[in-house]
Amino acid sequence: MALFGAIEAGGTKFVCAVGTGPEDLRARMVFPTSTPGETIRQVVEFLGEAARHEPLAAVGIASFGPVDVKPDSPRFGYITSTPKAGWQNVDLAGEIRRALDLPVAFDTDVNAAALGERRWGAAQGLQTFVYLTVGPGIGGGALVAGRLMHGVLHPEMGHMRISHNRQADPFPGVCPFHGDCWEGLASGPAIAARWGCKGECLPIDHPAWPLEAHYLALGVTNLVCVLAPQRIILGGGVMRRSGLFRLIRHKTLELLNNYIQVGEIIERVDEYVVPAQLGDNAGVLGAIALALDATKAEPERQKT
Ligand code: ZN
Repeated sequence: MALFGAIEAGGTKFVCAVGTGPEDLRARMVFPTSTPGETIRQVVEFLGEAARHEPLAAVGIASFGPVDVKPDSPRFGYITSTPKAGWQNVDLAGEIRRALDLPVAFDTDVNAAALGERRWGAAQGLQTFVYLTVGPGIGGGALVAGRLMHGVLHPEMGHMRISHNRQADPFPGVCPFHGDCWEGLASGPAIAARWGCKGECLPIDHPAWPLEAHYLALGVTNLVCVLAPQRIILGGGVMRRSGLFRLIRHKTLELLNNYIQVGEIIERVDEYVVPAQLGDNAGVLGAIALALDATKAEPERQKT
């Protein structure tokens, strides 16, 4: 089994690991995101040292964005217009490829996490599904007919516009670009700004949660209508609130209002809107899945 390097590149931290899958994640290292030069140097040092013990077949990068993921673009592998200071127009994939002299697979953190969930987690056996993370922001990745969705860009699901009744909820939203887009209304920072305290300190019977479930269900309903996914997988810190899945499923069915008559949704919604399974390792496992797919390696066999 070939060994891979994995990089989860986040706006606040980078997580690096080497391994072949969830049962085999060897050295793992986390460090805060500083300047591009310093951060990339740390990544290269860590993976270079790992490769001296056992050669790596490829490196996968699951990156915050927006990023350029068009393989024929001269700026493929760049972080482009991110609001993260100092990280605009950084050739992340190119610098790592040149420094390690290894093939590099590159995609958004959420597209990578979707691949990881298909290989090892909640989307095994599916061809068309959506992976969402609800935390410091809202991000979504999707596979359609077995392929990651790419067009002129990667999807930016967190910035879809959803209906917002300002009489019922006058909160203007936190997105610096749109105010009350999906992320602006329903991310972790939106909950904290609206209620003056983080989600963790709001009990499940607090009005914050039916409102949160309403907004999340609006986005989920839009995704059902646009992509007809076989499943919708939700991860991220906000989704750890117990009881939230139940509210979202209920509100999604209410919003669809029996228009879409498929058993997978109306009879088995508990298996349709489901939690992510890869937890804190979603990023690095997604990066390994990217590298595996890029090198056309066989999927890891489950150990018995
Ligand atoms: Zn936005």
